[in-house]
Amino acid sequence: MRRLIALAATAAAVGTSARRVARFRPPQDQPVALDLTGLDAEGAANRLAELIRIPTVSSRVPGASDAAVFERYRERLTELYPRTHAVLEREVLGDGALLYRWRGSTDEPPLVLMAHYDVVPVEGQGWTRDPFSGLVEDGYVHGRGAIDDKGSMVAILEAVEALVAAGVTPRRDVYLSFGNDEEVLGVGAQLAVATLTERGIRPWAVLDEGGAVVTGMFPGVPGRVAVVGLAEKGVLDVELVTSDAGGHASAPTRGGAPARLARAILRIEEHPFPARLHDVVLGMVDAVGRYADAPYRALFAHAGRLRPALAQVLSRAGREANALVRTTVAVTRLEGSPAANVLATRALAHLNIRIALGETVQTTVDRLRRVIGDPAVEVRVVSGSDPSPVSRADNDAFALLSAAARAAYPDAAVAPYLMVQASDARHFSQICDSVYRFMPFDLSRDELAALHAADERISVATLHRGAGFFRHLIAHL
Ligand SMILES: [Zn+2]
Repeated sequence: MRRLIALAATAAAVGTSARRVARFRPPQDQPVALDLTGLDAEGAANRLAELIRIPTVSSRVPGASDAAVFERYRERLTELYPRTHAVLEREVLGDGALLYRWRGSTDEPPLVLMAHYDVVPVEGQGWTRDPFSGLVEDGYVHGRGAIDDKGSMVAILEAVEALVAAGVTPRRDVYLSFGNDEEVLGVGAQLAVATLTERGIRPWAVLDEGGAVVTGMFPGVPGRVAVVGLAEKGVLDVELVTSDAGGHASAPTRGGAPARLARAILRIEEHPFPARLHDVVLGMVDAVGRYADAPYRALFAHAGRLRPALAQVLSRAGREANALVRTTVAVTRLEGSPAANVLATRALAHLNIRIALGETVQTTVDRLRRVIGDPAVEVRVVSGSDPSPVSRADNDAFALLSAAARAAYPDAAVAPYLMVQASDARHFSQICDSVYRFMPFDLSRDELAALHAADERISVATLHRGAGFFRHLIAHL
């Protein structure tokens, strides 16, 4: 805290004459209140519950996902949203990615709303309720996918169904792109992008899962913030491999394969990637700054001049904040000897790396090798993708999104945001410079923590409001 106060004092001393970086400005006008009439909260909750009961768990092992279950899910969608399916054109791409086209009244470039209907497994997670029972209890829908991302899909479809029922035709075409393999970094969204590209369609804007309406994410900002992802970090999977002669465990050698591997891991741990404040994070800090408590407000107000200091502050402000300012490395799997009394001939560590904006797969691998500094540790790239381009925040698409978010959550600030997870949205960057990542859900820290973990759930009220957000967005295109 003392360090922070010192920084704030520096910030104040910099004064207002300092050159200000051109940055995102949140809308100052009063938000239009969101109209939720005609959207059925209880019906939406029950439909989401039904879809949760169809366990569309995707697997990285080819052929291990149950195709019949995914098929059943797609069929159920047509029954639950009959009006949507009567009016929108629907295609099934590849193994089950869905692409819908809702023809608008003009031929202006379309809006693409994305979601995915595969979910991550639940094994070993200690759920207090059956993850696939689709229980609706005490104002919550429980189960795997309640938020990620069947919740988003249902919110979108509830909005479309209500608008179709009201006889509304959107001003632009609206495409719905629902992936079947997002959780395993599959090809569903790429097929959608390829299909649109083939037809010469370049979207006006794309909206996928990502940010949400959150509280307590930024140090010193007590209120709610709707964070809209403008970019996402790259993902890199690397294996570190060491080898050894092996032998009986009764006569070990010093510095065998596991020890060498452990040393490499420790070096990586002790030499984190540098913390830097990218423009996207700067825009985010700037947008939330006015809502911050002292001394953060002074610090955030001069963020542009204090990038290195602020990067340090964020890197110490918790795991999420740290992930915003640097490339992170997680050791996720370790392998050694297959038997308890046999020396390892090979030791392996799997690293899951999230690459900061401004770096690449190559610069990341180069740095890893330098830090490890041991040619006997092999660094193998399993797969990798560079960080996404940064979407615009100074255009009509972002303004409309902000307006819809503020209509749904009038007391929330809207801030651009850097996604630290990978999403299907990144594929759309090839054909659109306005790709946003935002779920219109107000989520508590507990609810966020349940994503990909036990007891995922969404409140019925939040789901309802989410549908209202999408309806507002489509109605104001
Ligand atoms: Zn997801």
